[in-house]
Amino acid sequence: MIDLSASGLMSFINLAYFFAAVMFMFGLKAMSTPARARRGIVWAGFGMLLATIVTFFHPAIDDNFLLIVVALLLGAGTAWHFARSVQINDMPQMIALYNAMGGGAAACIAIIELTRTGLSGDLLQGLAVIGGLLGSIAFTGSMLAYLKLRGTLQRVPRYSNLQVINVGLLLIALLIALILSFSANSHPALLFIFFLFALISGILITLPVGSSDMPVIISLFNAMAGLAVGLEGVALENPAMMVAGVVVGASGWMLTSLMARAMNRPIANILFSDSAFFKQVETGADTPDSTLAHKSVWDQVSEEALSIDAHDAAADLAFAERVVVVPGYGMALSHAQQKLWELTELLERRGVKVSFAIHPVAGRMPGHMNVLLAEAGVPYEKIVDIDDINAEFSSVDVVLVVGANDIVNPAARDDADSSIYGMPILDVDKASHVIVVKRGQGTGFSGIENSLFVAVNCRLLYGDAQKMVQSLISEVREIQ
Ligand code: NAP
Repeated sequence: MIDLSASGLMSFINLAYFFAAVMFMFGLKAMSTPARARRGIVWAGFGMLLATIVTFFHPAIDDNFLLIVVALLLGAGTAWHFARSVQINDMPQMIALYNAMGGGAAACIAIIELTRTGLSGDLLQGLAVIGGLLGSIAFTGSMLAYLKLRGTLQRVPRYSNLQVINVGLLLIALLIALILSFSANSHPALLFIFFLFALISGILITLPVGSSDMPVIISLFNAMAGLAVGLEGVALENPAMMVAGVVVGASGWMLTSLMARAMNRPIANILFSDSAFFKQVETGADTPDSTLAHKSVWDQVSEEALSIDAHDAAADLAFAERVVVVPGYGMALSHAQQKLWELTELLERRGVKVSFAIHPVAGRMPGHMNVLLAEAGVPYEKIVDIDDINAEFSSVDVVLVVGANDIVNPAARDDADSSIYGMPILDVDKASHVIVVKRGQGTGFSGIENSLFVAVNCRLLYGDAQKMVQSLISEVREIQ
């Protein structure tokens, strides 16, 4: 674009890339705490803007200036539009789409680099090939994840031996990658076959993944797309791409393993098991009558789950000293966060100490509950981590569980035969009283029964979360 060949130009560009990389890292660091997350996103955004602007001065950009500007405007305009209108619960599919773009862009760079210069069999070629493999898998895998989450693709074909086919395809793609990496005169058709296998692998890996496992695989594709961009950055000798890619790749991988650990599901299990997609999760069963006429609702003992009505539950909350609210996926579905905060303020005005306990995998995406509670105006200092709150539940009067199930299931702690055994849980059963808001007999994401619901200190408040919390607000207002 600009004919500047002064030796200082490249130093200036590299210095700008360096600052952009520093901004990415500071941005990411700030994103680790909710209070500074917004600032972190802005820093990373400015880093990306700086890297983009300075690239226009790069001597390699001497052609296609108009095409680049049109592509930038199209991409930025579309992203701006979707980011403004996306609902919080639709965030995973939006991230999937972004990952697809990142992975696809890295794969395109690999194709161009490998065909433009011809195959030379050096290290840079090897890195471009691996970046191409990861980018292609992230591209098709993320696109499929997007379509599945969006509901566009509701029925997926089921093949027997899918895992064997997947592993076989991946191995073939890896073998061709090896040949391409170290060969100086591979036939161009091999490149085509390599990318075809990589693209198909992305589809087949994602095909059997359960829609509820999708956040984990989306996070994995995020890591793959990041790493692919980083590797292509090395091939292009572009430091901003290298740092941004490695930072995204490493953080994406950490998030993936943290999520998998918090759910007690090995990543290989999510990737190479076809059980999840076809698992029937029962939800929305009929709502039983919640008519408990007498006052001593907590004195009843039964082997079945006992219910409580809003009147008794409100009294329990209003006369408690300490209440902990545990939100879950049901709160997100019912958009009850605003009402919950209203209830909290009401209780606090009565002198009740209220805090929120958040499990790392509550809901269906990382930080799901944090985002919703922040949106409702719940101050960060009211939110307590699983490790901090678990030691305190025995001194809590009432725990109000709103649309959460697996994350409070004692089987994960006590039952070695349970499918969720080993997953850390919030020990709400140790509190004096537990009130669970849910619609009916629906199980959680894992599809298993929850022994908490039949515990002597637990009562179920049946109904939609938002409606029930509104009823609690009305009842608490009636109490003098
Ligand atoms: P959950 O185990 O899925 O339980 C949700 C509960 O909400 C159900 O018991 C359901 O019972 C109830 N519910 C649904 N709609 C409701 C409504 N409108 N009003 C009131 N209640 C409603 O949710 P969780 O306890 O938050 O646990 C999250 C699960 O998702 C974990 O197993 C986790 O491993 C998994 N997961 C999390 C992520 C992540 O990144 N956060 C990603 C993938 C998977 P009813 O049907 O009876 O109402």
